[in-house]
Amino acid sequence: MPIVTINDQKFEFDSGETIIQVAERNGIDIPHYCWHPRLSVSGNCRMCLVEVEKMPKLVIACSTLAMDGMVVHVNSLKAIAGREHVMEFLLINHPLDCPICDEAGECKLQDYAYAHGTGESRFIEQKNQKPKRVKLGPYVMFDAERCIACSLCIRFSAEIAKEDQFTFVQRGDRVTIETFPGKEFDNPYSLNVVDICPVGALTNRDFRFKARVWDMSDTKSICPGCSRGCNIDIWVRNNEILRLTPRFNEAVNDYWMCDHGRINCFKFVNADDRIDSPMIKKAGTHVSSVGWDEAISKTVSTIKRFKSDEIAVIGSPFAIVEDNYLLAKFARQVLHTKNIDFIKHINPADQDDILIREDKTPNSLGAKLAGISPRNGGLNFEQIMEGIKGKKIRCLILIEDDVAAISQDFLDSLSNLDSFIVFATNNNKSTELADIIFPSATYAEKNGTFVNFQGRIQRIRPAVMTIDLDRSLDAMSLSRLDKFGTEFDRWGKARKINARSTWRIILQIANSFSMKFNYETSEDIFLEISQTIKEFDGLDYELIGELGIQLKSYQLVEEPILV
Ligand code: SF4
Ligand code: SF4
Repeated sequence: MPIVTINDQKFEFDSGETIIQVAERNGIDIPHYCWHPRLSVSGNCRMCLVEVEKMPKLVIACSTLAMDGMVVHVNSLKAIAGREHVMEFLLINHPLDCPICDEAGECKLQDYAYAHGTGESRFIEQKNQKPKRVKLGPYVMFDAERCIACSLCIRFSAEIAKEDQFTFVQRGDRVTIETFPGKEFDNPYSLNVVDICPVGALTNRDFRFKARVWDMSDTKSICPGCSRGCNIDIWVRNNEILRLTPRFNEAVNDYWMCDHGRINCFKFVNADDRIDSPMIKKAGTHVSSVGWDEAISKTVSTIKRFKSDEIAVIGSPFAIVEDNYLLAKFARQVLHTKNIDFIKHINPADQDDILIREDKTPNSLGAKLAGISPRNGGLNFEQIMEGIKGKKIRCLILIEDDVAAISQDFLDSLSNLDSFIVFATNNNKSTELADIIFPSATYAEKNGTFVNFQGRIQRIRPAVMTIDLDRSLDAMSLSRLDKFGTEFDRWGKARKINARSTWRIILQIANSFSMKFNYETSEDIFLEISQTIKEFDGLDYELIGELGIQLKSYQLVEEPILV
């Protein structure tokens, strides 16, 4: 193998690799703005200047191929001076507005100005003025004065999102970006440019000016918007989610996520229509002052009125593996019903060859593996709905799904039930019909696992505190326990929802039937799953880790994700 020396360390490399690629792979940071590992090389920011022995001038590491015997110095005096000059040049026209810029705290220009700037400016002339607050599309705002013309956004759009929607116009210090005439920057992945823009030129219209980045906590989680299961960070201030950003996972979503996931997959957590306490329908009205104990004992007495073949259970591809597993066990051991299934939410018209999947739920594979399917001749979903219509099924337990919203026929059928018990995060058409409602915690308020369409199991973690989480031992399995203590104090006055993980509510109901289900955390349930379901054999939360792990039996369905 050929060898290149970078900062006195020798590294093997493959033919065709550039200096910055070899350095990045080996943990050596070469400052850069316009280079991105997934985009073509443009070489226009000049920030990655390095000194190469026997070469007369500094070279840019992003487009210079590594050669056998080459000796590279990233931090020689000559390379440092070169980068200082690049910084001085970039800062000539850049506004000094960090205190009011949304990017402050996560801006590469700001960071490099500290690390590689001279600390003073020789420029005393008037700075160039350019348009501010330009709406490029529904989600992205452009501030032309802050743009350093790195072209990352243009290349992302053309090469990853496959939508040529804008370009550079003008030259020299007047250069700026514009959408093509009659076009908007509105592709389904447009907000990724906000992440890769190295400065505050592109901002997220949904998030801008809502919070300073250092005032938020970030929690590693999974987007629930489709069966891709993009890895995300959930950003929270005062117990309220303010934004989602993609988290790098080469096997799932690479560096990206779609706009739908980013914009729509957290607002329901903060919404006013959250179910905030258990409810029982009395004289046609939902009464919310009943409390957990009354709702649970009402559920127990209600279920006892029916024979097992009059009861059906509908699990959920939105709920975690642990919720579905305990529901299946409850159906088997407490209700003795074989009528158990869930429904997939498929939209074949909304899928692409980048990330977006037709299955609009995060865990349909996990729900199936956890045991949510008809047992020994039991009724499947369609048969359950038929059974309700024909009044053979009289009691239905539904978790974390809105069956009544699927069709008018289903909605009409559900009113035939003698008893309808619903676990839900937010009000919906099914809760309107329910006799008993339990408030379920959302994906952002609990520990657990999802299995994506590839058969990859991934962890979610609580980012937002509920009243129950505040008290429960489940908080102890938070991966960010240290930080959590700090956040908790700050959340003292923030709104906390009176919701519980669905598995915890099922556990309380089961034990009111004199069962001895004995789990304190979702991890306890998962350990039982790993001992009883072969696909999960030998797994635990630690092994699943931050990036998930492929279930053994599903290796073959993994497919390349990005073109
Ligand atoms: S807007 Fe940002 S990503 Fe686009 S060219 Fe300017 S600095 Fe680069
Ligand atoms: S592709 Fe799916 S999982 Fe990924 S961000 Fe979009 S909705 Fe969420």
